[in-house]
Amino acid sequence: MDEIPPGHPRAESLRIRHKLIHGMENKVVAKAGLIAHGRGEAFDYLLGEKTQPPAMEAVRAAVSALLLAKYPVISVNGNLAALSPREVVELAKEVNAKIEINLFYRSQERIEAIRKVLEEAGAKEILGVGETADGEIPEISSVRRVVDRRGIMIADVVLVSIEDGDRTQALRKLGKTVIAIDLNPLSRTAKYANITIVDNIVRCMPLLVEEARRLKGYPKERLKEIVEKYDNKKVLADMLRIIRDRLTAIAEAGGTIPDDFEKAL
Ligand code: ATP
Ligand code: MG
Repeated sequence: MDEIPPGHPRAESLRIRHKLIHGMENKVVAKAGLIAHGRGEAFDYLLGEKTQPPAMEAVRAAVSALLLAKYPVISVNGNLAALSPREVVELAKEVNAKIEINLFYRSQERIEAIRKVLEEAGAKEILGVGETADGEIPEISSVRRVVDRRGIMIADVVLVSIEDGDRTQALRKLGKTVIAIDLNPLSRTAKYANITIVDNIVRCMPLLVEEARRLKGYPKERLKEIVEKYDNKKVLADMLRIIRDRLTAIAEAGGTIPDDFEKAL
């Protein structure tokens, strides 16, 4: 890996890029995954590359929904496997969810590469790999429709990230509660999901694990209240307001971020 100069203002972002490039060389990440990440990065820049309060609200609702679910599934694609494999395994353990590999660009080679990464991160059971990965989501063309009949097919709550709008909509039509991690608050996925966490997976996956450990001790009634009170439209609107207010403050300060701005938010 090339050295990232210490103190580089985008050091963390560069580290993530290296991980994805490494993932692509190992067949974990699809070429299109790199481009999708670029779209995400642009929104992250606008959001100040930090977890904003409405995203934390969505994290809390997401964990509550996962803990209340009868059959929760975490859908894993190449980017998620390359960036946060340990957190996938930890979150699945905390909320008792299944892990399913589900790819937009599906090939046996990639499935095996992702399976290896997840197993190295401690995953014991991985769905979407073998002969039970023969279920189909109606209304989606191509291999994207393939799901595991022991996983997404029968899940009531599905966590997706870096997902496409068509698939998110199809999952909703099947009556599933969809939790999406998507840095773009304007995407179709962000709008179709029941709960959208507008944050970078590298930041919010550890937060989901932490929150799961905390909320596990809560009574069911309290978790239900959190889910019922949650309003995804409002959260998305709040995220857009944060982008707007940051841009306004930066423009008024002549292009720099005012020192006290993040504190004032
Ligand atoms: P949609 O199909 O939902 O309208 P899209 O076509 O604009 O979305 P896709 O390429 O289908 O976008 O999905 C990729 C999404 O993943 C983008 O919205 C991007 O913002 C988001 N994304 C990319 N990298 C990350 C990341 N590291 N963390 C969170 N979200 C990310
Ligand atoms: Mg799309």
